[in-house]
Amino acid sequence: AMRIVSGIQPTGNLHLGNYLGAIRNWVRMQDEMPADGECLFFLADLHAITVHNDPAMLAANIREMAATIIACGIDPARAILFRQRHVPAHAELSWLLNGTARIGWLNRMTQFKEKSGKNREGASVGLFAYPVLQAADVLLYQATHVPVGDDQKQHLELARDIATKFNADTGTDLFTLPDPIIPPAAARIMSLRDGTAKMSKSDPSDASRIALTDDADTIAAKIRKAKSDADALPATAAELADRPEARNLVGIYAALAGVTPDQVLATHAGQGFGSFKPALADLAVETLSPIRDRLLTFRADPAELDRLLADGAARARTLAAPTLAAAYSALGL
Ligand code: ATP
Ligand code: MG
Repeated sequence: AMRIVSGIQPTGNLHLGNYLGAIRNWVRMQDEMPADGECLFFLADLHAITVHNDPAMLAANIREMAATIIACGIDPARAILFRQRHVPAHAELSWLLNGTARIGWLNRMTQFKEKSGKNREGASVGLFAYPVLQAADVLLYQATHVPVGDDQKQHLELARDIATKFNADTGTDLFTLPDPIIPPAAARIMSLRDGTAKMSKSDPSDASRIALTDDADTIAAKIRKAKSDADALPATAAELADRPEARNLVGIYAALAGVTPDQVLATHAGQGFGSFKPALADLAVETLSPIRDRLLTFRADPAELDRLLADGAARARTLAAPTLAAAYSALGL
């Protein structure tokens, strides 16, 4: 049976790009999972402490992220949604796999080089070993498939190498080798103020992004003020190549409507932004306001949220237990 495992770091201030580029893929996977399969989605809170950590902020972001994920359509009755920290087997297996992973393998991980920057000696050991914890995250559940963006391909390859070596070293076939799922051309949403910069939560300008907590008026105002140009929309997306802001707004419309940019232009060619922007705002509000409503409901009821997460963690622990026990015993522990 198919089993998908995927994690996301808990952060606050989530925006339209996070929804269209990441969380919505989870919802799709959940909705398309056959009845005998399983989706496990977790908040990677143990990963979050490998870089500078603000404990009060982390605690708040964990709840906010969980509320957002459920609000966006992850159904805790169907998918298993939990916090990594609530399933100690992640940390335990990670330690066992530290005995298998080679320093040379980790030295080749480009993400560590990027994240540690010039101060490699000052980076945490956790940041270096991060991909081993990621391997544990998926091997623990015998994941058959793991969704990976470009930046995570190398880490999944490492997980497969670790699984292969562990199996060989112990003369077992304990771990399933997970295959990558490359998400279908994940939408890349750009800033509303600059069509060449990614929409991001760390952009100092609030006007650059649509937050998932923005109300209808705020969304409409941000889209009205979004940078665009004075030309009419062309008939094909190819003609938007040199118009980054126009391309972005058409791309957002396409991602929200679940169609291609060419399909958007087939019905909107010839329009100026004076009429395209209100149409885009309507579509964005239609998609985002139910998400916002559910998010606010969960914010008001953190106990219910905690209950859902505790339930998800209990189910995850049950699935993890046999593999962790087998790994200990394969090592003679
Ligand atoms: P930061 O500015 O701190 O890097 P961010 O806004 O880029 O924050 P992340 O927490 O880095 O958000 O990313 C969370 C998920 O959302 C990742 O899967 C990432 O690929 C996706 N994502 C982030 N920004 C966008 C975007 N503009 N368009 C599409 N996907 C995005
Ligand atoms: Mg980012």
